[in-house]
Amino acid sequence: MNVIETRNLSAYYMLDIYGRKVVVKAVDNISISFNQNEIYGIAGESGCGKSTLLKVLFDLVEPPLRIVNGEVLYIEDNKSVSIYKTPLNNRRKYKWRFISYVPQGSMNVLNPVRKISQTFEDFLKPNINNSDPTELKERIVKHILELGLRKEVLDAYPHQLSGGMRQRVTIALATILTPRVIIADEPTTALDVVTQRGVIQILKDIQSRFNNTIILVTHDMGVHANVADRIGIMYAGKFVEEAKTAEIFENPLHPYTKFLIDSLPQFGDGRKRESAPGSPPSLSSLPEGCAFHPRCPYAMAKCKASAPQFIEVDKGHKVACWLYSGVDL
Ligand code: SF4
Ligand code: MG
Repeated sequence: MNVIETRNLSAYYMLDIYGRKVVVKAVDNISISFNQNEIYGIAGESGCGKSTLLKVLFDLVEPPLRIVNGEVLYIEDNKSVSIYKTPLNNRRKYKWRFISYVPQGSMNVLNPVRKISQTFEDFLKPNINNSDPTELKERIVKHILELGLRKEVLDAYPHQLSGGMRQRVTIALATILTPRVIIADEPTTALDVVTQRGVIQILKDIQSRFNNTIILVTHDMGVHANVADRIGIMYAGKFVEEAKTAEIFENPLHPYTKFLIDSLPQFGDGRKRESAPGSPPSLSSLPEGCAFHPRCPYAMAKCKASAPQFIEVDKGHKVACWLYSGVDL
C-alpha cells in the first residue's frame, strides 16, 4: 500500500538574476511511490534536488520555488488527497499529523531561550484540541521515554545538550503526533560516527514502534545500507534508479549508482575508491538527453539526443538508462 505518490511532479526555482530569468529544475518529472511501513532512502550528490523534493512532499513550497506540473498524493484509509489541489485551509491538518519533517540542520529548530519542555508545549498546543496542561505534560514525558530519551532533557535548554541529543529531541518533536510519514533531511550529517548510530537507531525504533514510513535523505550510502528498505537514487532532479537496498548494492544497474557504491570506503581495502568523474551539472543548464552523459563511461549517441524513461526492468527494480531500455531510437 502506498502512503504518498507523486505523479509527473516538477518543481522549479524561478529566479531572476539581475534581470535574467533562470529556471532551476530541482524536481523534474518525478513519478514515485512510498509504501506504508518502510524506510525509503533517497541518495545522490549535493545539489541533485533531494532537499527540494522533501519540501515539496511536505507542502512547503515557497517562492521562488513553484510546482510547475504534476501532483503529490497523500493516501490515508484508502482515500487519496492531491495536496496542491486542496484549498490551503484544508491542507494544514496534514502537517505534523499525517506527514512530518526533520529539516537539515535541525539543531537550529529548537528555540535557544526556551526549555525543551516549553518547546514541546509550544508545538503541541496549536496542534491538539485538548490542551489540559497536566495531560500535555504527561504526553510529552511518555513520548520522550518511549523514544529512549531521559526525562531530564525536558528541563534543559538546547545549548545544554550535545548535538546528537538535540537531534534526537528534534526527531521526538517531529514524531509526537504519530505521523504516518516522517521525512528527514540529512539527519546524521555533521554528527560523529557514534552519535550517528544513536540517531539512526532512534529512527529505526520509531519505524518499528509506530509502523509508519520514513523517507530519509542522505548522500551517505553507508547510512542507507544500514537503515533503508528501498533506495532511490537521484541525479539532476530525477530518479535514475530504485530498488530494494540489497538489490541496489548487489546489482546496481545505472552507471551513476555504480559510482556511488564504488566510492564507498570498504573495510580492509586500502585501494583508492573511484568516484564519479567530473561534477554534477547545474540544474539551471542541464545537458540534453541523459543528464549523466558528460560523466558516463558508457555514453552512446542516443544518450546525448534523448532522455531515457524511468522503467521497471526487473520486479521492483527501476532504472533510467538506455543500456537497459531495449528500445532503439
Ligand atoms: Fe550513461 Fe547513456 Fe545510461 Fe545515461 S543513458 S547513464 S549516458 S549509458
Ligand atoms: Mg540537501
